[in-house]
Amino acid sequence: MKKWLVLVLSFLIFYGCAKAPVTGRTQIMMVSPQQEKAMGFQTERAILKKERLSRDRALIERVNRVGMRIARATGKKLDWKFFVIDKPDVPNAFCLANGHVFVYTGIMKYVSNDAQLATVIAHEIGHAIAHHVAEQVSMAMVTNLATTAAAVAIQHNVHSSSEASAYMMALGLGANLGIVLPYSRMMESEADHIGLMIMARACYDPRQAIAFWEKFAKQGKEPPVYFSTHPSSKQRIAQLQKLMPEALKIYHEHHCDQQPVYHPPLRQSRPAYGDEEDYRVPTRRVAPTYNRLIGPGY
Ligand SMILES: [Zn+2]
Repeated sequence: MKKWLVLVLSFLIFYGCAKAPVTGRTQIMMVSPQQEKAMGFQTERAILKKERLSRDRALIERVNRVGMRIARATGKKLDWKFFVIDKPDVPNAFCLANGHVFVYTGIMKYVSNDAQLATVIAHEIGHAIAHHVAEQVSMAMVTNLATTAAAVAIQHNVHSSSEASAYMMALGLGANLGIVLPYSRMMESEADHIGLMIMARACYDPRQAIAFWEKFAKQGKEPPVYFSTHPSSKQRIAQLQKLMPEALKIYHEHHCDQQPVYHPPLRQSRPAYGDEEDYRVPTRRVAPTYNRLIGPGY
Protein backbone atom coordinates (compact mmCIF):
# COMPACT_ATOMS: atom_id res chain seq x y z
CA MET A 1 0.00 0.00 0.00
CA LYS A 2 2.84 2.37 0.89
CA LYS A 3 4.50 2.00 -2.52
CA TRP A 4 1.60 3.39 -4.52
CA LEU A 5 1.23 6.26 -2.07
CA VAL A 6 4.86 7.19 -2.62
CA LEU A 7 4.31 6.91 -6.38
CA VAL A 8 1.23 9.15 -6.30
CA LEU A 9 2.96 11.71 -4.08
CA SER A 10 6.05 11.80 -6.30
CA PHE A 11 3.80 12.35 -9.34
CA LEU A 12 2.08 15.21 -7.53
CA ILE A 13 5.36 16.77 -6.49
CA PHE A 14 6.71 16.40 -10.01
CA TYR A 15 3.74 17.89 -11.83
CA GLY A 16 2.17 19.84 -8.97
CA CYS A 17 -1.31 21.20 -8.78
CA ALA A 18 -3.27 23.78 -10.73
CA LYS A 19 -6.08 26.19 -9.93
CA ALA A 20 -9.31 26.33 -11.90
CA PRO A 21 -10.27 29.79 -13.20
CA VAL A 22 -13.26 31.62 -11.63
CA THR A 23 -13.84 28.99 -8.91
CA GLY A 24 -10.20 28.84 -7.73
CA ARG A 25 -10.52 25.10 -7.01
CA THR A 26 -7.24 23.22 -6.56
CA GLN A 27 -6.75 20.53 -9.19
CA ILE A 28 -4.47 17.51 -9.48
CA MET A 29 -2.52 17.72 -12.74
CA MET A 30 -0.33 14.91 -13.97
CA VAL A 31 -0.68 15.85 -17.61
CA SER A 32 1.16 18.80 -19.15
CA PRO A 33 -0.78 21.45 -21.15
CA GLN A 34 1.12 20.29 -24.26
CA GLN A 35 -0.06 16.70 -23.74
CA GLU A 36 -3.62 17.93 -23.21
CA LYS A 37 -3.49 20.01 -26.41
CA ALA A 38 -2.10 17.02 -28.34
CA MET A 39 -5.06 14.95 -27.10
CA GLY A 40 -7.34 17.74 -28.36
CA PHE A 41 -5.83 17.65 -31.86
CA GLN A 42 -6.06 13.86 -31.92
CA THR A 43 -9.78 13.99 -31.04
CA GLU A 44 -10.34 16.73 -33.58
CA ARG A 45 -8.84 14.67 -36.41
CA ALA A 46 -11.11 11.75 -35.51
CA ILE A 47 -14.21 13.98 -35.38
CA LEU A 48 -13.53 15.74 -38.66
CA LYS A 49 -12.97 12.39 -40.36
CA LYS A 50 -16.28 11.05 -39.07
CA GLU A 51 -18.71 13.98 -38.97
CA ARG A 52 -20.25 16.15 -41.65
CA LEU A 53 -19.79 19.89 -41.27
CA SER A 54 -22.84 22.11 -41.61
CA ARG A 55 -23.29 24.26 -44.72
CA ASP A 56 -25.77 26.59 -43.05
CA ARG A 57 -23.92 29.85 -43.54
CA ALA A 58 -26.15 31.89 -41.19
CA LEU A 59 -25.68 29.37 -38.41
CA ILE A 60 -21.90 29.14 -38.94
CA GLU A 61 -21.64 32.92 -38.79
CA ARG A 62 -23.78 33.07 -35.67
CA VAL A 63 -21.78 30.40 -33.84
CA ASN A 64 -18.54 32.19 -34.78
CA ARG A 65 -19.83 35.60 -33.70
CA VAL A 66 -21.24 34.46 -30.33
CA GLY A 67 -18.31 32.08 -29.78
CA MET A 68 -15.64 34.72 -30.40
CA ARG A 69 -17.36 37.12 -27.99
CA ILE A 70 -17.32 34.42 -25.30
CA ALA A 71 -13.72 33.49 -26.17
CA ARG A 72 -12.59 37.11 -25.83
CA ALA A 73 -14.32 37.39 -22.44
CA THR A 74 -12.20 34.50 -21.09
CA GLY A 75 -9.03 36.58 -21.55
CA LYS A 76 -7.27 33.38 -22.66
CA LYS A 77 -5.29 33.35 -25.87
CA LEU A 78 -6.19 29.97 -27.29
CA ASP A 79 -6.43 29.16 -30.97
CA TRP A 80 -10.21 29.74 -30.92
CA LYS A 81 -12.09 28.10 -33.77
CA PHE A 82 -15.72 27.14 -34.15
CA PHE A 83 -17.15 24.24 -36.11
CA VAL A 84 -20.81 23.40 -36.71
CA ILE A 85 -21.48 19.67 -37.12
CA ASP A 86 -24.52 18.74 -39.17
CA LYS A 87 -26.27 16.26 -36.89
CA PRO A 88 -29.84 17.36 -36.14
CA ASP A 89 -30.49 14.41 -33.81
CA VAL A 90 -27.49 15.07 -31.54
CA PRO A 91 -28.09 17.84 -28.96
CA ASN A 92 -24.45 18.30 -28.08
CA ALA A 93 -21.47 20.66 -28.08
CA PHE A 94 -17.92 20.52 -26.74
CA CYS A 95 -14.65 22.43 -26.68
CA LEU A 96 -11.30 20.69 -27.08
CA ALA A 97 -8.20 21.66 -25.13
CA ASN A 98 -6.80 23.42 -28.22
CA GLY A 99 -9.69 25.92 -28.12
CA HIS A 100 -11.62 24.38 -31.00
CA VAL A 101 -15.35 24.37 -30.30
CA PHE A 102 -17.82 21.98 -31.95
CA VAL A 103 -21.54 22.75 -31.92
CA TYR A 104 -23.95 20.09 -33.19
CA THR A 105 -26.98 21.36 -35.10
CA GLY A 106 -29.14 19.17 -32.79
CA ILE A 107 -28.61 21.57 -29.87
CA MET A 108 -30.05 24.48 -31.81
CA LYS A 109 -33.65 23.44 -31.31
CA TYR A 110 -33.23 24.22 -27.59
CA VAL A 111 -31.63 27.60 -28.28
CA SER A 112 -34.01 30.54 -28.69
CA ASN A 113 -31.57 33.46 -28.85
CA ASP A 114 -27.88 34.44 -28.86
CA ALA A 115 -27.65 34.50 -25.06
CA GLN A 116 -28.79 30.87 -24.90
CA LEU A 117 -26.26 29.92 -27.57
CA ALA A 118 -23.70 31.80 -25.44
CA THR A 119 -24.77 29.62 -22.48
CA VAL A 120 -23.91 26.45 -24.41
CA ILE A 121 -20.59 27.75 -25.76
CA ALA A 122 -19.52 29.35 -22.46
CA HIS A 123 -20.20 26.08 -20.60
CA GLU A 124 -18.04 24.12 -23.08
CA ILE A 125 -15.29 26.76 -23.07
CA GLY A 126 -15.49 26.62 -19.26
CA HIS A 127 -14.45 22.95 -19.41
CA ALA A 128 -11.53 23.82 -21.69
CA ILE A 129 -10.09 26.75 -19.74
CA ALA A 130 -10.37 24.72 -16.51
CA HIS A 131 -8.38 21.92 -18.24
CA HIS A 132 -10.97 19.34 -17.29
CA VAL A 133 -9.64 16.78 -19.79
CA ALA A 134 -6.15 16.90 -18.28
CA GLU A 135 -7.65 16.68 -14.81
CA GLN A 136 -9.84 13.74 -15.75
CA VAL A 137 -6.86 11.87 -17.18
CA SER A 138 -4.89 12.70 -14.01
CA MET A 139 -7.72 11.44 -11.82
CA ALA A 140 -7.94 8.23 -13.85
CA MET A 141 -4.21 7.70 -13.27
CA VAL A 142 -4.61 8.15 -9.51
CA THR A 143 -7.69 5.91 -9.39
CA ASN A 144 -5.92 3.21 -11.42
CA LEU A 145 -2.93 3.30 -9.09
CA ALA A 146 -5.17 3.08 -6.03
CA THR A 147 -7.36 0.27 -7.40
CA THR A 148 -4.30 -1.69 -8.55
CA ALA A 149 -2.82 -1.42 -5.07
CA ALA A 150 -6.13 -2.48 -3.53
CA ALA A 151 -6.41 -5.37 -6.01
CA VAL A 152 -2.97 -6.64 -5.02
CA ALA A 153 -3.99 -6.45 -1.37
CA ILE A 154 -7.19 -8.42 -2.13
CA GLN A 155 -5.29 -11.16 -3.99
CA HIS A 156 -3.07 -11.64 -0.94
CA ASN A 157 -5.87 -11.75 1.59
CA VAL A 158 -8.67 -13.87 0.15
CA HIS A 159 -9.09 -17.62 0.20
CA SER A 160 -10.68 -18.36 -3.19
CA SER A 161 -10.72 -16.90 -6.70
CA SER A 162 -14.52 -16.38 -6.59
CA GLU A 163 -14.15 -14.36 -3.40
CA ALA A 164 -11.38 -12.34 -5.08
CA SER A 165 -13.50 -11.59 -8.18
CA ALA A 166 -16.44 -10.51 -5.96
CA TYR A 167 -14.16 -8.06 -4.16
CA MET A 168 -12.72 -6.87 -7.46
CA MET A 169 -16.18 -6.15 -8.85
CA ALA A 170 -17.10 -4.24 -5.71
CA LEU A 171 -13.82 -2.34 -5.98
CA GLY A 172 -14.48 -1.35 -9.61
CA LEU A 173 -18.03 -0.29 -8.80
CA GLY A 174 -16.85 1.60 -5.73
CA ALA A 175 -14.22 3.50 -7.71
CA ASN A 176 -16.79 4.39 -10.33
CA LEU A 177 -19.57 5.47 -7.95
CA GLY A 178 -17.26 6.94 -5.33
CA ILE A 179 -14.68 8.77 -7.44
CA VAL A 180 -15.20 8.87 -11.20
CA LEU A 181 -18.89 9.86 -11.37
CA PRO A 182 -18.91 12.43 -8.55
CA TYR A 183 -15.79 14.00 -10.07
CA SER A 184 -17.46 14.20 -13.45
CA ARG A 185 -20.58 15.82 -11.91
CA MET A 186 -18.40 18.31 -10.05
CA MET A 187 -16.70 19.29 -13.34
CA GLU A 188 -20.08 19.82 -14.99
CA SER A 189 -21.16 22.12 -12.16
CA GLU A 190 -17.86 23.96 -12.39
CA ALA A 191 -18.28 24.45 -16.17
CA ASP A 192 -21.76 25.88 -15.45
CA HIS A 193 -20.24 28.24 -12.87
CA ILE A 194 -17.39 29.41 -15.12
CA GLY A 195 -19.69 29.62 -18.14
CA LEU A 196 -22.22 31.80 -16.31
CA MET A 197 -19.59 34.35 -15.25
CA ILE A 198 -18.00 34.42 -18.71
CA MET A 199 -21.29 34.97 -20.50
CA ALA A 200 -22.08 37.83 -18.09
CA ARG A 201 -18.64 39.31 -18.80
CA ALA A 202 -19.38 39.03 -22.53
CA CYS A 203 -22.62 41.02 -21.97
CA TYR A 204 -25.00 38.14 -22.52
CA ASP A 205 -27.85 38.19 -20.00
CA PRO A 206 -26.93 35.41 -17.52
CA ARG A 207 -30.63 34.80 -16.71
CA GLN A 208 -30.92 33.24 -20.16
CA ALA A 209 -28.75 30.35 -18.88
CA ILE A 210 -31.59 29.23 -16.61
CA ALA A 211 -34.11 29.58 -19.45
CA PHE A 212 -31.89 27.38 -21.64
CA TRP A 213 -31.30 24.62 -19.05
CA GLU A 214 -34.99 24.54 -18.16
CA LYS A 215 -35.87 23.94 -21.78
CA PHE A 216 -33.02 21.45 -22.25
CA ALA A 217 -34.14 19.50 -19.16
CA LYS A 218 -37.36 18.60 -20.89
CA GLN A 219 -35.56 16.80 -23.72
CA GLY A 220 -35.37 13.37 -22.17
CA LYS A 221 -35.49 11.16 -19.12
CA GLU A 222 -32.66 11.70 -16.71
CA PRO A 223 -30.82 8.79 -15.12
CA PRO A 224 -30.56 8.77 -11.29
CA VAL A 225 -27.91 11.30 -10.26
CA TYR A 226 -25.62 8.75 -8.58
CA PHE A 227 -25.22 6.81 -11.84
CA SER A 228 -24.79 9.87 -13.99
CA THR A 229 -21.83 11.91 -15.20
CA HIS A 230 -24.04 15.03 -15.07
CA PRO A 231 -25.83 16.73 -12.17
CA SER A 232 -29.62 16.64 -12.41
CA SER A 233 -31.27 19.58 -14.15
CA LYS A 234 -32.83 20.56 -10.84
CA GLN A 235 -29.39 20.73 -9.16
CA ARG A 236 -27.97 22.53 -12.16
CA ILE A 237 -30.68 25.22 -12.13
CA ALA A 238 -30.49 25.57 -8.33
CA GLN A 239 -26.75 26.27 -8.60
CA LEU A 240 -27.27 28.84 -11.35
CA GLN A 241 -29.92 30.59 -9.26
CA LYS A 242 -27.50 30.72 -6.34
CA LEU A 243 -24.76 32.21 -8.52
CA MET A 244 -27.10 34.61 -10.34
CA PRO A 245 -26.60 37.68 -8.05
CA GLU A 246 -22.83 37.48 -8.66
CA ALA A 247 -23.33 37.01 -12.42
CA LEU A 248 -25.78 39.93 -12.59
CA LYS A 249 -23.30 42.08 -10.69
CA ILE A 250 -20.69 41.40 -13.40
CA TYR A 251 -23.33 42.05 -16.07
CA HIS A 252 -24.30 45.42 -14.55
CA GLU A 253 -20.69 46.43 -13.79
CA HIS A 254 -19.96 46.06 -17.50
CA HIS A 255 -22.93 48.39 -18.15
CA CYS A 256 -24.39 45.72 -20.39
CA ASP A 257 -27.92 46.75 -19.48
CA GLN A 258 -27.27 50.27 -20.77
CA GLN A 259 -26.15 48.97 -24.15
CA PRO A 260 -28.85 46.43 -24.83
CA VAL A 261 -27.63 43.48 -26.81
CA TYR A 262 -30.02 42.46 -29.53
CA HIS A 263 -30.80 38.74 -29.33
CA PRO A 264 -32.55 37.94 -32.58
CA PRO A 265 -34.30 34.59 -32.69
CA LEU A 266 -32.26 31.95 -34.47
CA ARG A 267 -33.23 31.41 -38.04
CA GLN A 268 -32.13 28.44 -40.12
CA SER A 269 -31.15 29.20 -43.64
CA ARG A 270 -29.97 27.21 -46.61
CA PRO A 271 -26.57 27.97 -48.14
CA ALA A 272 -26.73 30.37 -51.05
CA TYR A 273 -26.45 29.00 -54.55
CA GLY A 274 -22.85 28.12 -55.33
CA ASP A 275 -21.85 27.97 -51.67
CA GLU A 276 -21.75 24.19 -51.72
CA GLU A 277 -18.31 24.29 -53.27
CA ASP A 278 -16.95 26.50 -50.46
CA TYR A 279 -18.41 24.37 -47.72
CA ARG A 280 -17.36 21.04 -49.14
CA VAL A 281 -16.60 18.61 -46.34
CA PRO A 282 -12.93 17.68 -46.29
CA THR A 283 -12.48 13.96 -46.73
CA ARG A 284 -8.89 12.99 -45.97
CA ARG A 285 -7.25 16.04 -44.54
CA VAL A 286 -8.86 19.14 -43.11
CA ALA A 287 -8.51 21.63 -45.91
CA PRO A 288 -6.87 24.77 -44.48
CA THR A 289 -9.10 26.94 -46.68
CA TYR A 290 -12.13 25.54 -44.88
CA ASN A 291 -10.71 26.46 -41.50
CA ARG A 292 -10.03 29.99 -42.70
CA LEU A 293 -13.56 30.21 -43.99
CA ILE A 294 -15.23 29.38 -40.71
CA GLY A 295 -12.48 30.43 -38.34
CA PRO A 296 -12.36 33.63 -36.30
CA GLY A 297 -13.00 36.70 -38.34
CA TYR A 298 -16.71 36.23 -38.81
ZN1 LIG B 1 -20.33 19.90 -19.67
